[in-house]
Formats: sequence, structure tokens, C-alpha cells
Amino acid sequence: MHPTNKTAAIDVTPLLAFSDNYIWLIRGPGDCAGTVVVDPGEARPVIETLDTHGLRLHAILLTHHHHDHVGGAAELAARYAVPVIGPATEDIAARTRAVTGGDTVLLEEPGLRFTVLDTPGHTRGHIAFHGHGALFCGDTLFSAGCGRLFEGTAGQMHDSLERLAALPGSTKVYCGHEYTVDNLHFARAVEPENTAVRAYLERADILRSSGRPTLPSSLELEIAVNPFLRCGQPAVRESAARRAGRALATTVEVFTVVRQWKDTFKRALT
Ligand SMILES: [Zn+2]
Repeated sequence: MHPTNKTAAIDVTPLLAFSDNYIWLIRGPGDCAGTVVVDPGEARPVIETLDTHGLRLHAILLTHHHHDHVGGAAELAARYAVPVIGPATEDIAARTRAVTGGDTVLLEEPGLRFTVLDTPGHTRGHIAFHGHGALFCGDTLFSAGCGRLFEGTAGQMHDSLERLAALPGSTKVYCGHEYTVDNLHFARAVEPENTAVRAYLERADILRSSGRPTLPSSLELEIAVNPFLRCGQPAVRESAARRAGRALATTVEVFTVVRQWKDTFKRALT
């Protein structure tokens, strides 16, 4: 098998950081002890996992500059002497290689190859990494939700999500946080008749009650349940228009209303 075959299988493990962040540890098809990590907000869970399993770290990938995604990068880079690959237009002290949309990240030893996608909205320079049938999208796309608009505009986030939704439906979605259950309660408020939302909420509740992650999701599932990817659907458009008290002409307007709605949404106690 060619070490950088884009379709070659990878093995991805979630490492929990803080209360609900995931650091993704990726093992490639090349050197089976070789790994890269995505968004290490803390160094400790990465060091413990590498030590316990006798793994080697080859690189650190960063999606955006927020501390809960980059906080452990400097310590890990110093300890393992590995490159830190992150968005070109964000201020990240630990970054040693700047990348932007369309760039390829080739990591020979673990046999990994990713394409960089520009996904501004949550932050201005946010990027995602796509390859091997997997998408590492930080705080742009969450399962059944999307990131808050801290720096970018609703239009930018909407375009970023459209870019991600255009990837193959089978793409596995590895996002930065475990927000799925809360997001599904909101999705159900937006689309009470969506049976895929109800089925996923039941499944997610079972997973979370036994401490298991709901991730990865898939783009196919997200397109069926995620209100932020469904702004062109009549049910979402009508629900958003009722919320806004006026007709909404474009999907960006629908997205804007749904995003503002989510910002203040409190799930009903059941
Ligand atoms: Zn963030």
C-alpha cells in the first residue's frame, strides 16, 4: 500500500480534554506507531496516550487559534520536536508551518495526506483538514450544529458549511466538541417533524449515558439532521421565518436567524 494513499484507512481515537473538547489522535496506514494529533488544547492526555501505547508523534494539526484547541501545542512540539501546522492568517505562537485552503499536508511516516479547506466564520482564519474519508473541522461544523460566530459573518459561515457539505456523504466528521445532544434538542425545536433528528437523539442519549462519544458523525447524517446544513429545506425556512416574524428570501437569511436562535436557545427540561 502506498504510504500516502488518500483512501488508505486511518485509525482515529478521541482524547478528552477539558470538559467537552476532543483531541483527535490519528494513526496512519504507514508507520503503525506513528501518529498526528489535531487540536491539542492540553498536552497531558496526548503524552499519556503516546507513553501508554508506545506511539510516536509526527505532527500537530491546528484548525484555529482558540486556547482550548492550541493550548498544548507548544509543550508537545518542544517535547517531541514535531512541526505544528496551522492556519496562515491566525496568530498562533506555536505554529511552524502556515497553511491555507487548497494546500496539501503530506506526512510521510504515518502515511497521511490531507487537503486544507478554508472555513472562516467561527474565527476569521479557521481551516479544516480533509483526507482518508475523514474531515477534521474544529469548531466550524458540529454534529447537528455549528460553531458560534466569534469573528466571521453569517455569510462566511454559511459558505464554509456549504463547502464541507459538498464533500462525499460517507465522509466521517470529527469535530472539536461533544455538543451533539444539546444540538439535537435545538434541531428538534427547529424541525419537530424530522424523524432522523429524533432517531439520532435517542441514539446519542444512549451513547452519552454510557460515557461514549457520539462522534464521528458522517456528512450524510449531518445533511439529514443539522439545521445549519438544511437552511434550504422548506421546514427549516418556515420555522426560521416564524421565529423572525417575516419572510426570509435567501438561505443566508435563514442561516442567520437559525444561528441567532441557537445562541439563546435553552432546552426544555424533560
Ligand atoms: Zn473555537
